[in-house]
Amino acid sequence: MASVIVIGGGLAGLASAAALGQSGFQVDLFEARSFLGGRATSYPVPGDNSEVIDNCQHVLLRCCVNLMDFYGRLGVADRIEFHKQFFFIEPGGRTSVLEAGGLPAPLHFTGSFWDLKFLGLADKAAISRALLAIRSEHGRRDDLDRISMLDWLREKHQPERAIRRFWNQVLVSAINEDLDRMAARHGFQVFWLGFLARANAYEMGIPRVPLGDLYGPEGWKRIPNVRFHPRAPVERVIVEDGAVRGVVAAGEQHTADYYIPALPFERLPGVIPELDLKIEGFEHSPITGIHLWFDRSITDLPHATLLDRTIQWMFNKSAGRYVQLVVSASRSLVEMPRGDVIALALRELAEFFPVAKDAKLEKAHVVKEIRATFSARPGLEQARPESATQFRNLFLAGDFTRSGWPPIMEGAVRSGYLAAEAVTRAAGSEQKFLLPDIA
Ligand SMILES: Cc1cc2nc3c(=O)[nH]c(=O)nc-3n(C[C@H](O)[C@H](O)[C@H](O)COP(=O)(O)OP(=O)(O)OC[C@H]3O[C@@H](n4cnc5c(N)ncnc54)[C@H](O)[C@@H]3O)c2cc1C
Repeated sequence: MASVIVIGGGLAGLASAAALGQSGFQVDLFEARSFLGGRATSYPVPGDNSEVIDNCQHVLLRCCVNLMDFYGRLGVADRIEFHKQFFFIEPGGRTSVLEAGGLPAPLHFTGSFWDLKFLGLADKAAISRALLAIRSEHGRRDDLDRISMLDWLREKHQPERAIRRFWNQVLVSAINEDLDRMAARHGFQVFWLGFLARANAYEMGIPRVPLGDLYGPEGWKRIPNVRFHPRAPVERVIVEDGAVRGVVAAGEQHTADYYIPALPFERLPGVIPELDLKIEGFEHSPITGIHLWFDRSITDLPHATLLDRTIQWMFNKSAGRYVQLVVSASRSLVEMPRGDVIALALRELAEFFPVAKDAKLEKAHVVKEIRATFSARPGLEQARPESATQFRNLFLAGDFTRSGWPPIMEGAVRSGYLAAEAVTRAAGSEQKFLLPDIA
């Protein structure tokens, strides 16, 4: 049985381990931390072990077919609840709902889109024209990686309000980057796959359980041949004569036939200095999660996107009393003291949910993920490395690799599957794990 060492137990490493384990490879996965999931994980609230929280709410869309396939391998796909309604709330509380009607794609939003109260008629007409342009230009324009999404929206004469309340509101959270720093190709992909390709592709999946439970031991019982080594940071990959000979973890050397480092890009040079990796152009974009517990329910909505303010999303985690707020591309909050972040969140929340004004805050927790994802800026796509490296038995995975997707969970799983496929090719037993996009 050929053997593989996977370095890193985030989604990329876990996906490659699951695919290879099920294909008869012996997999040893080394993870620095005591738990799995990497940047998509959960842990007890610091200072209060009674409650487990996600580092940040993670959501997916139905078009994330490889992520759902990975959850299926672990038998946890039914723990993702799909929501058909998107709630947009204006300051003051006026709420609009976007949901598919009875028409086939791409006309499925026709009814609810024209009813949205937070956009004017001219905004909606301009957005419709731009969506048609995405359909006709998708796959045909070769400059989408070079220009920003904002450049493209300006080219399509989008009104300021349409940009701010529609394009910005959807895309900044989806890609974790501002429109002027985001390559247009990523904006296209979100709308092409998530909004235009199929009538149900936009449905938002939210785990019913803490993220960490999705990768719990029960799921791995279904997958043979995978051994986990938690609290075992790989200190060094040993290379010799164009191949990897082993890894050093917790002072001990381990060897295998193949190696998959599934690490964040900034960690790779420290672990494999010999790797030919051009990551100079990679920068991080932060995400801030704000967890608030109140003495009463402040909303009945399951989630909502909040317009025109710093807070972009609200997720109702428990009967409206525990809500989680998310700010993507949250550069403005990085230096802000945590107390000020909480005060700002409370102030803004009260504008959308008046009950929050009188509710007593019982507990609050702020998670600033400064290195949340790489910034998917124009011109970066060519710099994203492929899975194959100069070492014949080492294949890269991780959301920064060229997965065809932005730095999100689907991209991480795709990269894991691609690295696993590369291992099978090198082992002479070529197999396919990657599922094609829905369109
Ligand atoms: C706050 C936040 C919110 C997000 N929201 C969403 C969302 O809503 N939807 C979405 O799709 N995506 C979201 N993402 C992005 C998503 O979490 C990532 O794209 C994905 O989890 C990256 O997976 P990965 O396996 O590539 O990397 P990671 O998750 O970073 O995994 C790398 C692993 O390697 C381990 N490691 C590091 N060094 C070593 C070493 N030397 N030896 C062994 N192990 C090591 C780390 O501990 C980690 O477990 C969000 C990310 C953040 C941070």
